[in-house]
Amino acid sequence: MCLFCDIIEGKIPSTKVYEDEKVLCFRDINPVAPTHVLVVPKKHFDDIIDISKADDGAEYLGAVSKAIAKVAEIDGLGNGFRVINNCGEDGGQTVKHVHFHVIGGVKLTEKMI
Ligand code: AMP
Ligand code: ZN
Repeated sequence: MCLFCDIIEGKIPSTKVYEDEKVLCFRDINPVAPTHVLVVPKKHFDDIIDISKADDGAEYLGAVSKAIAKVAEIDGLGNGFRVINNCGEDGGQTVKHVHFHVIGGVKLTEKMI
């Protein structure tokens, strides 16, 4: 069982922001900023390493970048935003289906890098 696969299949509700053939974007249930959207490939890949090794991984990552731009446009993030991917144990990944956090709508101050 994968939580994000269930959301993609509509078994668990989500607040959709944007979708296309390859990607679903929905609002994080526990937002850390006015915009906190998860950009999720519709095909299951465990993490960024897994998707990088897959034959069709580049297609999905291309769709992810376009979807990030769409989300930024939809939520009016013209002044900037941040994209975060947590990978694995040390990265603090809690859902093992690769996803990208798009965070913005406020001046982001808690910079690690
Ligand atoms: P990560 O810790 O990078 O794996 O991110 C997982 C994210 O999924 C967290 O920010 C959670 O708040 C979010 N999340 C967990 N369950 C749901 C859900 N049902 N709908 C939307 N977001 C969720
Ligand atoms: Zn999944």
